[in-house]
Amino acid sequence: MIEDIVEKVVGSNNLARDFAAICDTGGRFAGSDSEQAARDYLSDRLEEATGIAPTHAPVDYLGWSRGDSVLERLDGAGASLPCVSLVRSPATPDGGLVAELIDIGRGTEQNFVVRAAEIEGRIVLVRHEYMFATGTVHRRRKYQWAMDRGAVGFLIACHLPGAGPVTGSSGATPERGIPAAGISAETAKALTADGPAKVRLRIETDEAPRRTANLVLDLPGTGPEWIVLSAHIDGHHLAESAIDNATGLAAALSVAAAMAPNMGRLARGLRIALFTVEEWALAGSVVYVDGLSDAQRSAIKLNLNLDSIAGSPNLTALTSGFPKLEAWLLTRARARGHALGAHRPMMANSDHYNFARQGIPAVRLVAGFDEPESELKYVLTPGDTRDKVTADDLRRAAGLTAALAVEACRADELELR
Ligand SMILES: [Zn+2]
Repeated sequence: MIEDIVEKVVGSNNLARDFAAICDTGGRFAGSDSEQAARDYLSDRLEEATGIAPTHAPVDYLGWSRGDSVLERLDGAGASLPCVSLVRSPATPDGGLVAELIDIGRGTEQNFVVRAAEIEGRIVLVRHEYMFATGTVHRRRKYQWAMDRGAVGFLIACHLPGAGPVTGSSGATPERGIPAAGISAETAKALTADGPAKVRLRIETDEAPRRTANLVLDLPGTGPEWIVLSAHIDGHHLAESAIDNATGLAAALSVAAAMAPNMGRLARGLRIALFTVEEWALAGSVVYVDGLSDAQRSAIKLNLNLDSIAGSPNLTALTSGFPKLEAWLLTRARARGHALGAHRPMMANSDHYNFARQGIPAVRLVAGFDEPESELKYVLTPGDTRDKVTADDLRRAAGLTAALAVEACRADELELR
């Protein structure tokens, strides 16, 4: 049965077709028409592929949308430079925020410590870095360190020349935040070429309570336990969020379609959970996991979360501190000829985190871990487009997902806690 299911996933044209159709919906920024179009498509396809309509489970959150973002250098040439406000950045006051820039380099904690006395009242400039690596310093930490030291604004520059500006979440909350924007490597150069510039940053935003929805589909097995296969729907407006996360969505759809006719022969059910507002502090999966009862949570034996699973041929399992889970995954992947990597520390970088922090064995599959030259370097930039994903890489990742999902659903016993 496992071979048939894997073959159905890797041999079907639907994987590539769904991937392209999800990319066609656009960047899928939470709250946008693009996000809604993607949810409608995914809902229809899940129903078509399995014969069961998914539940649209409401998620209430504080919506945020972008208005204009403008950055000007006030000294020297006085040029206007392109910038993109970071997600949930507060707006600047009317007329913009005027301050001197301080370039603190990459933006490690040490960089902040060394320049601490100079940061107050200034706009901090740091660098974005490759996100899928052991030593990555996350943007939101840099933002917190800047606020902690009295910065009045925050700019983060793309680390790749020619790749345009970078986006992402700021980490601002309604209670605490400073205006924040992403810029290109070239803009950073223009701002720092003749010493620290005086700049005006103007960010317009619109915030209001909104309602969106996760898609949840249950394919019951013969017993009371569940495997949750998840992927996030939402993305960023700069491109089509192809790697992050049309790859995971297309794979989840294809696995659901291939497994649906076989569930009567499997001990555990397969639950497909397509979360949204992931890019904003994992809000969709917080609502889902925290909304379950203790009994419902303990019936979930594994969360297999697909986030950015192609763009490199190499896959890594982020195993959230569960050693039994790691051993189980690596053994099964190896038996199928996959050189799956593993990284055990808990990483709060996708929806698996909300399962793991509730004690549910949870893993994120991600491509390109510790491969800074892989196509995953384009995530959060205008370069996250479908041409970065080869059909082979997507098929291999989806095939491994199918094999792991079948193994997890059919095992006589599965206790990976
Ligand atoms: Zn993602």
